[in-house]
Amino acid sequence: MSELPYSYDAPVSQALFDRAATVTPGGVNSPVRAFRAVGGTPRFMVSGSGPYLTDADGREYVDLVCSWGPMILGHSHPEVIAAVRDAVSRGTSFGTPGEGEVTLAEEMVGRIEPLEQVRLVSSGTEATMSAIRLARGFTRRTKVIKFAGCYHGHVDSLLAAAGSGVATFALPDTPGVTGAQAGDTIVLPYNDLDAVRAAFQAHPGEIACVITEASPGNMGVVPPMPGFNQGLKDACATNGALYISDEVMTGFRTSKAGWYGIDGVRPDLMTFGKVMGGGFPAAAFGGRADVMGHLAPAGPVYQAGTLSGNPVATAAGLAQLRLLDDAAYAKVNDVSAQIQALVSGALTKEGVAHTVQNASNMFSVFFTDRPVRDYEDAKAQESYRFTAFFHSMLAGGVYLPPSSFESWFVSTAHDERAVQRIADALPAAARAAAEATQA
Ligand SMILES: *Cc1c(COP(=O)(O)O)cnc(C)c1O
Repeated sequence: MSELPYSYDAPVSQALFDRAATVTPGGVNSPVRAFRAVGGTPRFMVSGSGPYLTDADGREYVDLVCSWGPMILGHSHPEVIAAVRDAVSRGTSFGTPGEGEVTLAEEMVGRIEPLEQVRLVSSGTEATMSAIRLARGFTRRTKVIKFAGCYHGHVDSLLAAAGSGVATFALPDTPGVTGAQAGDTIVLPYNDLDAVRAAFQAHPGEIACVITEASPGNMGVVPPMPGFNQGLKDACATNGALYISDEVMTGFRTSKAGWYGIDGVRPDLMTFGKVMGGGFPAAAFGGRADVMGHLAPAGPVYQAGTLSGNPVATAAGLAQLRLLDDAAYAKVNDVSAQIQALVSGALTKEGVAHTVQNASNMFSVFFTDRPVRDYEDAKAQESYRFTAFFHSMLAGGVYLPPSSFESWFVSTAHDERAVQRIADALPAAARAAAEATQA
């Protein structure tokens, strides 16, 4: 361990975490940040630049979380920062329409053909919650199909068998969600079209929509099997339900047109967040104009937001999207492939059973030698090996998502030096994973 650049403890972060725990439940504002799955001290970050984060103890890490996806150009990209400064200098919120919202909506609609209209909101959770309400209002039906291991934000009705933090903490279900809220949600195994067809048969005329992550990244990266998304779309079309593709994570990350740009399956509604906000709270839902026309004030389905279309957030998002051309995606995909190969090589060398799965430049490492097709497969991995691997990488100056049920993210800023830092940290981490024993 002594050859690693940083120590396993982090005194300044720990002092901040102790302070935080007094005034904030669990010391964090979003559960996975607390490091509970891996133990140890969550690192309090003070700045980010390109592919690096610097913590309160003055240590620099190569960031493989990228704020859970949004920072696809790296931290503090000069053009994004300049756009934000310019917007801030003109005021921070007006509560009126503004041109920035229109331009951002035009940029999104221009990239994604099935996206005829969008409504801007402030978080991915709001986007999926609103899309579900709209689907119910449009179809005048109540039931929703979702898949185990897919995470759509902390919408009450969608927290059943959810991914991300819900998966990390193995929460069976969440107190505070009533039976009525959860009772209209049908949870099915991912990648199982027979289960979807059976559910439609069992509930004729009752299912408003199927919501799915376009390519799931919240149980680790588990891409749809060939034909799965098309099968969902067809089952919805046949049964008068809407197909909602949740692209909060994949949108503008996996390609210029997100996952739609890769599989071409045409959703009725889509949801976005993360990359489109450029590191600010901006998200959206949209799709078919005839469906979106049911939203207030054009139609009867209510939806609103004080800070929706915020001028600073839309300026950041627009600046980021405009920089995301084909060359940018080629660069992110290339560095992602390099890192995937390095990780797999290091684990193979130490004889650690693992499977690296990717969806374009999103990827994750499962500590199992079997392919992971659904949430049950994901849960069957040896997560205790990840814990040892994670802490060794952290001491080696590489910041990974603190859970084995999350995607890893890279950016255009991950250059040769950053990749070399990862390569240098990997041998010790792979050895730690090999030597790990179940607690
Ligand atoms: C992150 C995420 C959400 C929730 O977005 P928030 O901005 O955290 O509310 C919803 N769906 C997917 C697929 C996500 O990855």
